[in-house]
Amino acid sequence: MWCTRKKSLCIFMYHHIGEKNDESSGSFFIDNETFSQQLDLLVKKHHPITLSELEDCYVNKKEIPRNAVLLTFDDGYSDNYTYAYPLLLEKKVPATIFLNTDKVGTEKDILTWEQVKEMYESKLVEFASHGVDHKRLRKCSNEDVLFELTKSKEVLEQMLGKPVKSFCYPYGAFDKRVRRLVFKAGYIMDFGTRKGINSWPWKSRRPLLRAHVMRNDNVKDFQRQLATGYKKGIITWLCRQQSLSLK
Ligand SMILES: [Zn+2]
Repeated sequence: MWCTRKKSLCIFMYHHIGEKNDESSGSFFIDNETFSQQLDLLVKKHHPITLSELEDCYVNKKEIPRNAVLLTFDDGYSDNYTYAYPLLLEKKVPATIFLNTDKVGTEKDILTWEQVKEMYESKLVEFASHGVDHKRLRKCSNEDVLFELTKSKEVLEQMLGKPVKSFCYPYGAFDKRVRRLVFKAGYIMDFGTRKGINSWPWKSRRPLLRAHVMRNDNVKDFQRQLATGYKKGIITWLCRQQSLSLK
């Protein structure tokens, strides 16, 4: 089975979790029953890790556990608290939420700082930066990029009382200049939206790849993603690897 490959890391990218009949959240949505089934599958055959564990493995050049999986949620929607958090608690699966610090507690469908703190205190949910205001950083000046990077880092560190070392690009948009500034601002790991599975140790030549979990994904799609980061199977993945190695 491909999913038992050693030294690989599948990072899932989620956004919204909600009720089965909720049609309001677009395609980046998973209903809570499907999410629950996905967690069961992960607990049975894989090893969900925390972002802190991953950062520690990277900095201290440690092996990651076999079949390591990291769950990530972008944008900090309040449904992460209402629907995802109870299931994460029940199944004891850790996850990371990438927040925009100016949006927390100020927009209706976004988490409040109280919810962030409660989840953080459970030690099951960790938080990292998605910028201050979800800006497309490639289009910003150096000064504005650095503001998005350092301000969000400062606010999160103050709220959580620990260093924040990971950054997730809004819209997955980055280039060499933006990436350089990310590391200059003190981050050690960066997360993109390009699909795929990561080999370990991560060489940091490009942002970490993620598998997109979306509405209407079935169990087979999810299992394929665990193995390859893609839904369409191994051939697509092999072609993709081939094209990347040619670049
Ligand atoms: Zn986002």
